[in-house]
Amino acid sequence: MTDFSTHSFSGQTALIRVDFNVPLNDKFEITDDTRMRAAIPTIQKILKDGGKVILMSHLGRPKDGPTDKYSLKHLVAHLSQLLGGTTVLFANDCIGEQAYLTASMMRAGEVLLLENLRFYKEEEKGDEAFAEKLSKLGDVWVNDAFGTAHRAHASTAVIAKFFPAEKRFFGLVMEGEVKSAEKVLHKADKPFVAIIGGAKVSDKILIIENLLDRATDIIIGGGMAYTFMKAQGGKIGNSLCEDDRLDTATEILKKAAEKGVCIHLPSDSVIADKFAADAQTSVAPSNNIPDGWMGLDIGSMACQQFANVIKQSKTILWNGPMGVFEMPRFQHGTKEVAIAIADATSHGAFSLVGGGDSVAAVNQFGFTDKVSYVSTGGGAMLEYFEGKVLPGIAAVKQ
Ligand code: AMP
Repeated sequence: MTDFSTHSFSGQTALIRVDFNVPLNDKFEITDDTRMRAAIPTIQKILKDGGKVILMSHLGRPKDGPTDKYSLKHLVAHLSQLLGGTTVLFANDCIGEQAYLTASMMRAGEVLLLENLRFYKEEEKGDEAFAEKLSKLGDVWVNDAFGTAHRAHASTAVIAKFFPAEKRFFGLVMEGEVKSAEKVLHKADKPFVAIIGGAKVSDKILIIENLLDRATDIIIGGGMAYTFMKAQGGKIGNSLCEDDRLDTATEILKKAAEKGVCIHLPSDSVIADKFAADAQTSVAPSNNIPDGWMGLDIGSMACQQFANVIKQSKTILWNGPMGVFEMPRFQHGTKEVAIAIADATSHGAFSLVGGGDSVAAVNQFGFTDKVSYVSTGGGAMLEYFEGKVLPGIAAVKQ
């Protein structure tokens, strides 16, 4: 691969795999353009160099070929606006006559958006012939779609074989994601705390196991903490629990002790008499929750306990909320953790926040600029921290 920032794209047509899988409402208006905005610096760098840009992406999960609902044409006007009025051409296919013809007529400084890749089932199948047809559109291939880096699809990975190493690039989104993920996983300054929350132990087992070899401390909060509490003989009332994962929780605690990793579970919880925003609430030790009640957030002692660990850390990885933060009465713990991370970051720690719900939480509480890096790739980020090789990264580097 070649370094994106130092390369000049002058006279070249860059075929960029972006992640423009943005939510649209029923009037086809974009309700969150974060992913589009993320790709703008990559596009602008190439245009500024005097290159041409061809963008390819998926949108949603179309089942039966082309449908208006999943057409990328709905993004054209907004993309042009984000690019400061640059003309954005659109091809109503991602391969075939019209795409090739439009591409061949482009001038330097122009942008072409191709129609949804997933209108072809070959995209998700990683079909080689389809990837080859796509590859003909560009002189160089830029992968800037971290959100799909864990998929070996035609445009995210298979296409790489049609470009020699010096014509493969990470775009700026991908470069930022890979750099910060590598820093946390392979070059972490110690103490290194991983804060894992969310609903289910089963979703986070692999990431916790991989982190046992890297982190000095692991904080476990959210609904998943109660499976650990019960595994240790605690009373958890009606709190979320995966009974088929009690042995897994015990095993994780045992392995952590053997490896000298400190696992922190919330000492107390905000409990509720039902899973509802208007529930009656109280506070109880997390391992002694009365019958009929459930833990929906970490308590104030736990906030203090976790903040102490976070503030002493030099590297912080956060995935998953500490409670049901969607409901105002159960968002205190998640907010306090965000505050502690922001504080540690302002004192020199490197903090990486990733995964849909923790990203939503830092956005909601206004902490996005107070952490070192917010990852845009939920599933891809999780798989990276599970220790898996991501096809979209490997394909560029190979
Ligand atoms: P995940 O996708 O696994 O990261 O889980 C995120 C979800 O976990 C959010 O929707 C939270 O509301 C939920 N959650 C967090 N803490 C709890 C809890 N104590 N009980 C039930 N759900 C929770």
